[in-house]
Amino acid sequence: MNQSSRSSIAAIVEWQRPIYRDPTTLRPEQVCPHCKRKTTEYRFMIDGHIIVTHHCPEHRDVIPMRSVIFRDDYTGFVS
Ligand SMILES: [Zn+2]
Repeated sequence: MNQSSRSSIAAIVEWQRPIYRDPTTLRPEQVCPHCKRKTTEYRFMIDGHIIVTHHCPEHRDVIPMRSVIFRDDYTGFVS
């Protein structure tokens, strides 16, 4: 085993270490059901009714789901 493969295994172990999150700090966010990115909320007033739509940067108009698991747009996390 050479030096570079050993250090990559160490990086994987580091990544898998569980991160303690206090449940009281977990706030569900509206996320895209396909990619778990946070959606952008748009509100329209049409005929006196507020219409709310959610937009995913990748999947466009989506029906969001609420989840405490969501992804920010950084590479390296695949759900
Ligand atoms: Zn999406």
